[in-house]
Amino acid sequence: MTENKPFEIARETLKQLTIRKLAPTPVNYQSIFNEIAKIPNLPVFPDEQLRKIAQALPLKNPGQQKQKGLLDSAIGQRNWQGVESALLGYAGFVMSSATSQGSVDAALTKSIITTAPPGLTADFMRQIAGLVENALPALGADDARFSVQAGELLTALRDPATELTAAKTMLANFSHRLSFAAEDQAEVKSTLLKLLQLIVENMGELSLDDSWLKGQTEALRMAAALPLTLRRLDEVERLLKDVLFKQKDAKGRAMEAQDELRKMLATFIERLSLMTDSSSGYQGKMEESVRLMEQARSLEDIAPVLKEVIGATRLMTADALAVRDELQTMREKTQATDAELSKLHQELDRVSAQALHDHLTGALNRKGLDEALSRELSGLRRKGNPLCVALLDIDNFKKLNDNKGHATGDVALAHLAQVARECMRPQDTLARYGGEEFVLLLPDTLLEQGIAAMTRLQRELTKRFFLAGTEKLLITFSAGVAQVATDEAGDDAIKRADQAMYLAKRAGKNRVLGG
Ligand code: GH3
Ligand code: MG
Ligand code: MG
Repeated sequence: MTENKPFEIARETLKQLTIRKLAPTPVNYQSIFNEIAKIPNLPVFPDEQLRKIAQALPLKNPGQQKQKGLLDSAIGQRNWQGVESALLGYAGFVMSSATSQGSVDAALTKSIITTAPPGLTADFMRQIAGLVENALPALGADDARFSVQAGELLTALRDPATELTAAKTMLANFSHRLSFAAEDQAEVKSTLLKLLQLIVENMGELSLDDSWLKGQTEALRMAAALPLTLRRLDEVERLLKDVLFKQKDAKGRAMEAQDELRKMLATFIERLSLMTDSSSGYQGKMEESVRLMEQARSLEDIAPVLKEVIGATRLMTADALAVRDELQTMREKTQATDAELSKLHQELDRVSAQALHDHLTGALNRKGLDEALSRELSGLRRKGNPLCVALLDIDNFKKLNDNKGHATGDVALAHLAQVARECMRPQDTLARYGGEEFVLLLPDTLLEQGIAAMTRLQRELTKRFFLAGTEKLLITFSAGVAQVATDEAGDDAIKRADQAMYLAKRAGKNRVLGG
């Protein structure tokens, strides 16, 4: 076969068509011809048909005109890619012109939606519907019209028959109303926060005489400051429960004690006036008797006086006995009340063990720590974010107690807690682990960062003294930090931090070591 002669190729082509039993169509002829002539078998370019389509396209705006020009030139160059991008570009101008002019060429829009890549529009609409649905709970349910509008929008977005322009208009209306709802929610949130702060301030004012309550309300006020996070709100809730519990308990006890005191005072005053009455009557009678005795000349004169004295004395004794009996009954009653009150206190102590905060420092107590730790651990396991636990122990605390008194020791503990709270991040947790030992939970923290955080607290503490009378005192601590392993129990991690703390003490105190 001679490759260079078209005549030969044409003859061979016809022969092959017969041998292969192919229909003598132009497409088949071209394909075999190309094969024999070793020309790449490119698909036939339908210039004619494409030109017809291009001419039928309406030109309603400059964008469409431009794309039509590009389409013409792509057809001229037999450039499929150019044809595709010019058509897609033209489709974009169909949609925007339809919505911006408010007049919808429904048939055209529909044909473009159906010729769009399969599933794109319907899938996109479904995604928007999901977005709208997920956003709804955050916007409250106060506005009934908003809920109705949202419902209608969701139905329309999920209906494949809905036209794109109609959906776009509904979305625009919804978005307008949504902006109001979002503003409302922000307003509600900030008003609620202000209210909470007001309540907390008032609680502090009402409990001037209770230092624990004052400390707690201060901690509460700080926790309720912006920015609010779920973790912070949780802390506010727990603090508030503690404060409410303590306030109720304090109020109940104070009212009982006041009532008892009032009753006792009333009885004393009554008794006192009776005593004075009877003893001043007796005194008068005695003075009168002495005068009569001095004037007496005979036994007969003395006899009635004596009778008078004996009678008065007997009356006086009876009165005194009655008063004594009554005082005795009162003492018994007081003792019974005392017993009742101490039983009540025991009961209150038992219940207050259910509280989550330590009274002296306002930090979480052991129970509170357990709860916070299990919450952080589940965060660690769920999201895999690193978590550090740190254990700190004040250096030479016994000496401070011995030299400056236990009360100063208490102030030192509260001071440490205060400084720690101020220089920790809002998501960190402080708990009193034992006498002068504290545990800190540091979420989203790697070991090195945990050590750095504790060193920062150490430095802060050496900068901030507290007062014992007029004397300025500084405290230091030793600490151990452990990063919790994903499968590790919380207590084991604390144990590792404790061992590191112990090593820090051994190494000379006032330092932080990793466990
Ligand atoms: P180190 O530097 O090795 O830690 O020595 P330290 O003296 O701090 O340690 P130690 O454990 O010997 O002493 C702790 C002291 O803390 C003993 C205890 O009386 C005192 N303490 C425990 N709880 C309280 C409290 O609530 N208030 C006061 N003021 N002291 C407390
Ligand atoms: Mg200790
Ligand atoms: Mg100590």
